Amino acid sequence: MTGPLPDVVIGSGPAGVSVATALLARGRPVVMLDGGRDLPAEAEAQRSALAATPPEGWSKAQRNAWQAGQFDAAGAEVRRFGTGYAMEPAEATFAEADGLALRASLAVGGLSNFWGSAMLPYRQEDMTGWPISAADLAPHYAAVMDFVPMAGVEDALAPLFPALPMAGRSPILPGPQARAVLARHRPSARFRMGLARQAVASGCKGCGMCLHGCPWRLIWSARDQVARLRQQGGLDHRPGAPVVSIVESGSDAVVYRADGTAIRGARAYLAAGVLGSAAILLRSLPGMRELTMADSAQGFLPTIQTVRTDGAPDRVPFHTLPQIFAELSDPAVSPHTVHAQLYGWNEYYERDLRANHGRKIPFSGPIWRALSRRLVVAQIFLHSAHSAQVRLGLAEDGRLQADVRPNPQTLDHLKAAAAAMGRQLRLSGLQPLTFALRPGAVGSGFHAGSTLPMAVAAGAGQSDVLGRPAGWQRLHVVDSSILPAIPATTITLAVMANAHRIGAYNPS
Ligand SMILES: Cc1cc2nc3c(=O)[nH]c(=O)nc-3n(C[C@H](O)[C@H](O)[C@H](O)COP(=O)(O)OP(=O)(O)OC[C@H]3O[C@@H](n4cnc5c(N)ncnc54)[C@H](O)[C@@H]3O)c2cc1C
Ligand code: SF4
Repeated sequence: MTGPLPDVVIGSGPAGVSVATALLARGRPVVMLDGGRDLPAEAEAQRSALAATPPEGWSKAQRNAWQAGQFDAAGAEVRRFGTGYAMEPAEATFAEADGLALRASLAVGGLSNFWGSAMLPYRQEDMTGWPISAADLAPHYAAVMDFVPMAGVEDALAPLFPALPMAGRSPILPGPQARAVLARHRPSARFRMGLARQAVASGCKGCGMCLHGCPWRLIWSARDQVARLRQQGGLDHRPGAPVVSIVESGSDAVVYRADGTAIRGARAYLAAGVLGSAAILLRSLPGMRELTMADSAQGFLPTIQTVRTDGAPDRVPFHTLPQIFAELSDPAVSPHTVHAQLYGWNEYYERDLRANHGRKIPFSGPIWRALSRRLVVAQIFLHSAHSAQVRLGLAEDGRLQADVRPNPQTLDHLKAAAAAMGRQLRLSGLQPLTFALRPGAVGSGFHAGSTLPMAVAAGAGQSDVLGRPAGWQRLHVVDSSILPAIPATTITLAVMANAHRIGAYNPS
């Protein structure tokens, strides 16, 4: 290659496309590497056939066929578009990972192909002691919002999240359950609710297939931005053999791939997701045998809607993404924000109720159907200070070895958060079933990171504010690995803003 050396971005997920967008805006040539997995042709054909007909024209068989992939999946495996291609099976990533539900991705676009699209910035109140502030991230949230669609409205959440102004934006049609809850909500200093902010483009058809893959691809994926950057020019996307390690050589960074090839760049920006990046760092940082990962614990609190709603929640048009965000700022529960996402009806509720209780009570089908229409489930997230940690090392075969260190206080914090949240939800017509609170496995919320936390001056096991491990000049880690902690509010928007901040900085 002639001309200036490019910058090499490892990963095309939300972090990778954000840093690449900032680098390209600075006029830097960018080579982007990723694991190259993409939607299989058969699934893409099924998707485009579905998208060719309005939802009213779909047959029951078509609906069932689109949902079958996820319904047939084993255990907690996530599938969208009928396939699990964007999430690696545990055994591909780990030699051992007992009790850890977090998974890696080798897909173009990473885990954002399968995600829930909930978006919030981090609050300054949850960044105490960080070497960067909410103000440092603010312009980069704005830059990210230039290429990520955002559905939502300006409402009672606005004072908590000034970095994400919603004026002029449109929401996805809220369901009747959400409308009834928000109509009764009286925001206070301790508790605020508003419509969820989702990375979803306008034009939602209300087909209710969000948890199976949007046939119109309206739910944003980083894959969309890869395509856009390639079209605009400047991005050399080279999907394929995974990256194994990185070394600094003189004034270059050299990136080694599993097929034995090497790519020389002016700088390397590591955005392989917290697990992918951990494996690469453990192979690249001399003397680094172990990294400690932080998780944001989550659990599900079912509630029963006790008030009338102005329609059935399962009648089209409807969506099954989070409907409402609820934020609890109660020092008696936590010094940090407790975040919850409220989900209205979806096709899993009745199936779960029948599977768990139906067999014990003959002819009870109509009861479970009626109950499922009254269910609203709050997914509650805690700050990582109250959550488990995971030690990550390398096994002899090169896979990760994960050792989960539970936090003995997590369950108590989750119960306290559910009780406090439940008291507030009751005022809006939701009766919390706190006895049925279901804590998730470690990593099951997919909000994890902090393996190489940023510090003002990077010491061992830390990075500087540009994501550079101690002693390194040309390797910048830009994904959730470098967050100093994992606040409860959603992770991806903050990761993207931080990656964009690092890419926008001109180090030369
Ligand atoms: C089911 C589900 C729901 C979620 N819902 C939400 C939500 O509602 N809100 C939210 O904020 N977050 C959510 N998340 C989390 C969100 O998806 C992640 O935070 C986000 O995708 C992380 O972005 P990333 O770019 O750091 O990594 P990833 O998305 O994991 O992307 C990693 C990239 O690196 C590449 N890669 C990995 N290893 C290598 C290697 N060795 N060599 C080369 N390339 C490599 C991959 O191909 C991929 O392109 C959800 C996740 C899941 C699974
Ligand atoms: S309801 Fe969900 S799947 Fe259907 S169009 Fe809207 S975002 Fe896409």
